[in-house]
Amino acid sequence: MKPLTSLFLLLLSCLTANAQTPSILCGNDIFNQIVRTHHPELAAGFDAAFDEARQPGAHPRGPLTINVVVHVVWKDPAENLSDDVIYDQIAVLNADYNRLNADTGNLRPQFQPAAGAADIHFNLVAIERVQTNALFEIDVLGTDLLGNLKHSDEGGSDAWDTDHYLNIWVCKIQPLAFGPIVIGQVLGFAFPPNNLPHWPADSGAPNLDEDGVVIDFRAFGSNNPNPLEFPGVGTLSVKGRTPTHEVGHYLGLRHIWGDGGVLGPNDCDQSDGVDDTPYANAQSNFDCDVSKNTCPQVELFYGTDMPDLIENYMDYASEDCMNMFTKGQVELMRNVLTGPRSGLLESVATHQPSATAAGFRLLPNPANDRVRVDLSTPASAGSSLQLYGSEGRLLQSKTLPEGTASEWVELGGLPPGLYMVRVHNGRQWSAERLVVR
Ligand SMILES: [Zn+2]
Repeated sequence: MKPLTSLFLLLLSCLTANAQTPSILCGNDIFNQIVRTHHPELAAGFDAAFDEARQPGAHPRGPLTINVVVHVVWKDPAENLSDDVIYDQIAVLNADYNRLNADTGNLRPQFQPAAGAADIHFNLVAIERVQTNALFEIDVLGTDLLGNLKHSDEGGSDAWDTDHYLNIWVCKIQPLAFGPIVIGQVLGFAFPPNNLPHWPADSGAPNLDEDGVVIDFRAFGSNNPNPLEFPGVGTLSVKGRTPTHEVGHYLGLRHIWGDGGVLGPNDCDQSDGVDDTPYANAQSNFDCDVSKNTCPQVELFYGTDMPDLIENYMDYASEDCMNMFTKGQVELMRNVLTGPRSGLLESVATHQPSATAAGFRLLPNPANDRVRVDLSTPASAGSSLQLYGSEGRLLQSKTLPEGTASEWVELGGLPPGLYMVRVHNGRQWSAERLVVR
């Protein structure tokens, strides 16, 4: 890929549109512009691949689990996010992808029937921490996006096998600058599947070991202590939805306005490849404007004119207002996950037993100072939890209140080694091995 021309277009458009304030972007705008500018012949294939990926019915039902590795690559100590923030982000992903988020009721009534639960689950298996002196700058004249972040010999953190793990890198993404002038800030980006039908080999990640998601450290977790603020823009609300959005790209989703708005022509006919996202020709601007209706026309799917779906995770509304994927988006993501990205599901089979085998799951495992026990069904009367050392000594025991879905177990002070977690669900015991390191 040679994105030189397209990135100049990006710079000019940003300078024109926002002479005073930086644009806040998801890097997939840049990616799409690169592909469509330099491989125009592939646009039809791009669209055809989405058509194929979103066909219902040919893929298995039921829960799908992805093993996740989070790489924290930091220079300033503030960038070295605590485990609390990382666990919180995994919990946000699990809520958002399963429609268990607390704000589903904020969705406008006319869109409630379109909301979908993906039944996609995220299992944190490792946190990699790398201290670095490297800077992570989007090279506006270069050919890749933060490749150095993903290579230890360049000051980054090497990916775990990208066929089998979702790698999420968290770092400080330097502002987009044109000389001394800051023109924008990328909060995150992801590569779409590299092997969708009709895609060329180089339209996904430039190298397989760079596949995954990148998030600015201020946009990760809903309990992030670092404010996401920009001169002229103010402080943006952070609820962990930038990763929700970027993982959506990673699983094949496009922006709901069809990727025309920021860099291409605004056009109500530009489709995101999903039928039940309403027509839109422009993205939200980190606000909550429910009056937005950029394409006032009858929607084929809904049979009437619908406003823009600003509550969708694949728009650019404030994270306070995002709360849903549509059923069409869910179908597409599940088809990508059971198709081009099915390797992710294989690692779950080999890496960790499923929650259903033991009735609970340990996150993460191996763990450092604490572990979260997720129950496959909420605790009933008489449920309890125990932690044993490898020598068989009972170290902790606690009663689980009825209705408990997950419970933290503190591990501080325990020497590295093999432990056992046992859970009684009110009827019987089950057990899982826990590695503390
Ligand atoms: Zn995006």
